[in-house]
Amino acid sequence: MQIKIVMYHYVRQIQDSKYPNIKGLEISAFKRQIKWFQQRFNFISAKQILNAIYFNELVPNNSISLTFDDGLKDHYSNVFPILKKEKIQGMFFVSGEPLENQVVLYVHKLQFIIEKCPISKILKELMGFIQDNKSKYDLLDFNEYKKKLSTTDPFDDPETVLIKRILQFGLAMNARKQFIDDLFFKYVTKDEKSFSKELYLSMDDIHEMKEGGMYFGSHAYSHEWLEFTHLKNELEKTIRSYSKINPDKNSWMMAYPSGSYNPTVIDEIKKLGFRAGLIFEQKEAILDKDHAFILNRFDTNDFPQ
Ligand SMILES: [Zn+2]
Repeated sequence: MQIKIVMYHYVRQIQDSKYPNIKGLEISAFKRQIKWFQQRFNFISAKQILNAIYFNELVPNNSISLTFDDGLKDHYSNVFPILKKEKIQGMFFVSGEPLENQVVLYVHKLQFIIEKCPISKILKELMGFIQDNKSKYDLLDFNEYKKKLSTTDPFDDPETVLIKRILQFGLAMNARKQFIDDLFFKYVTKDEKSFSKELYLSMDDIHEMKEGGMYFGSHAYSHEWLEFTHLKNELEKTIRSYSKINPDKNSWMMAYPSGSYNPTVIDEIKKLGFRAGLIFEQKEAILDKDHAFILNRFDTNDFPQ
């Protein structure tokens, strides 16, 4: 059995907002897309997905599920009211750290730095930082990172992709956190806690959304790339926070942050009781046991908006 799973991140008013350069979907476009889906597809729930995988229960033809990553406040304010009204179950994947510590995840700090600051300027700052902190953090020459990490990506220009890859996992962790914190403070905000509260779902939001029929999955804890992070540590914290969000272990699913997974990651989350894992590969998801931990997802941009 195959279904379409669609991935969303920001769904908000972007034009004429405080952050006009953030990459996301306008609410009006989201509404249009939901209508478009309603005319063509049958929405199914997280439970139907798991029952199809583990008990061969049939799902309707042309089935579709909507997923929302990163536990953003957008999902409470702009997505939940629409889905509730249309009686569609959304699947929301939340990272634990902002909920517990009112921090802003590094992945989002970087997005808002890029929102405020031209890439050429960030690149200059980064080259300066690497020069100044080479021995402190035992860093390579900038050109070495460039050689190692240059690649292409459907969503960004090559310079942005390079910056993101250097700052998501290329640099040693202490160095990249220091650099991102400095720029976030300099260009975005000096009040991380308030920014975090505005950006992310609260536990109250989550409870209300669950009561309104929404499903909650895990998006790990700190949103680090699971392939490159200290896995045991990250997963311990993931379980601690996710158990509070979704105590029903039979329904545990993980959307791998930044789509980063490998066989070890799959083994470890299986051991912890997860039943499925969602990746980012723009194809239909296959609902059987062999594919349970590599469920493909399309992006909202793959469909008319
Ligand atoms: Zn994410």
